Amino acid sequence: APALVWFRDDLRVADNPALTRAAASGRPMVALYVLDEVSPGIRAPGGARRWWLHQSLTALAADLARLGIALVLRRGAAGAIVPALATALGAGLVTWNRRYRAAEIEVDRAVKAELAAKGHAPESFQAHLLHEPWSVRSKVDEPFRVFTPFWRSACAGAEPRAPLPAPARVRGLQTVPASDRLEDWALTPTRPDWSGGIAAAWTPGEAGAAARLKTFLDDEFAGYAERRDRPDLPSTSRLSPHLAFGEISPFQIRRAACHAVESGRSAASRRDLDKFLAELGWREFSYHLLGQFPDMERRNIQPRFDAFPWQPDPELLAAWQRGRTGIPMVDAGMRQLWQTGWMHNRVRMICGSFLVKHLLQDWRAGEAWFHDTLVDADAASNPASWQWVAGSGADAAPYFRVFNPVLQGEKFDPDGAYVRRFVPELAGLPSAYLHAPWTAPAALLAAAGIRLGSTYPRPVVDVAAGRDRALAAFDQLKSSQ
Ligand code: FAD
Repeated sequence: APALVWFRDDLRVADNPALTRAAASGRPMVALYVLDEVSPGIRAPGGARRWWLHQSLTALAADLARLGIALVLRRGAAGAIVPALATALGAGLVTWNRRYRAAEIEVDRAVKAELAAKGHAPESFQAHLLHEPWSVRSKVDEPFRVFTPFWRSACAGAEPRAPLPAPARVRGLQTVPASDRLEDWALTPTRPDWSGGIAAAWTPGEAGAAARLKTFLDDEFAGYAERRDRPDLPSTSRLSPHLAFGEISPFQIRRAACHAVESGRSAASRRDLDKFLAELGWREFSYHLLGQFPDMERRNIQPRFDAFPWQPDPELLAAWQRGRTGIPMVDAGMRQLWQTGWMHNRVRMICGSFLVKHLLQDWRAGEAWFHDTLVDADAASNPASWQWVAGSGADAAPYFRVFNPVLQGEKFDPDGAYVRRFVPELAGLPSAYLHAPWTAPAALLAAAGIRLGSTYPRPVVDVAAGRDRALAAFDQLKSSQ
């Protein structure tokens, strides 16, 4: 009886426990991917992730073919497709790696029960996270709501396992079940086709992920602790979309980063390593929160924020989405997102804060835009980070701490290289005025070919007045409770 491996957020052949288990069984194997946009509560991938998914599945199919395994593609409700295929095959083993959104857990639980009842022997594995969300507990046996004790406790536990090699010997199933054609899923939009910039910026797939990790560790890791806040430098790993699709695992990244530092192959310091591992820890913490607050992509973790006086304004939201707020650092970030499907973490915080505080738009509108446009849009990290920015989260920045996007720009993009790259219409302005062009003398603006309100927008909100308005809104919330 054959083995069926169900791929989901783990589009890789190395360090894939579900694949390794099936290979070790000695059974003839076949792989399955289900594009499920219909099961209750399932959140369909956004536009940028759809583009990535197409590329990543193409790469996975080729990698599996090299091992002699066919990848079957099906579209529809996984809860019906997986058991039906297992029955049609007469499967003697069905394996997959765990996923963590409540709606996905629900599907997996039902599939597992049905497969078990029909004798198809389902088995699930830990692969996406170093620490299962429910496994990290405080001394009084409770989950954590604050990052630092969470990470300390996680690190004090058992060392995460060593990554598994790709299976060497496998038997592919001879008679392969029918598969959809990937092209027929039409994952890559033709109108508007904004994916050109994304394609230029990334190499999806397991080999692309491994190459990105190697470049980071060899050339960019040293100084990470100091430089990681600089969007103008290649200061971070840019592994997030590869991690989101599971083209590389946190076990592989952790092991390679530790090895690079401990062997002396990388010039990175122990501090760089600890900081980098702590960032992976934030990803783990986001899933730890998702376990406690399964509806955190829709609901405030702190219920008192349910009464927040948001002022929904489609025009302001559109100006933010398109990078036309008149605040250079915000516009540079939002254009980096639109053009490349990714934004530097510091700038995500600046753009997020500007939307929820200066513009008083509900964080859910920002979260939804990020979900649609980020190649690394993640079920846990995206809502957890938005709630952190908005102040409504568990271990959140206090609401009254409002980022000043001009000062943030001056501090983290000191030479203006980041703004000049993504807001080229301001490129001719001297750095002293680049982050606040409305303060530049008229002659300088004219010399740089800038007409505010025409070649580049005037600020949609006065930075100082916007801050005061945000604090007043927060006071209103406090006094209403
Ligand atoms: P590195 O600095 O190289 O970090 C290594 C890895 O650690 C990352 O790939 C990522 O998996 C993880 N990581 C780093 N920082 C964080 C963080 N603050 N929270 C959680 N994980 C982290 N990250 C996503 O993966 N998906 C999202 O949808 C997402 N949405 C965000 C929304 C907002 C408003 C903010 C402020 C942050 C968001 N982040 C999200 C977190 C962070 O910005 C990205 O993980 C990071 O920018 C990815 O770049 P990198 O791979 O170069 O990071």
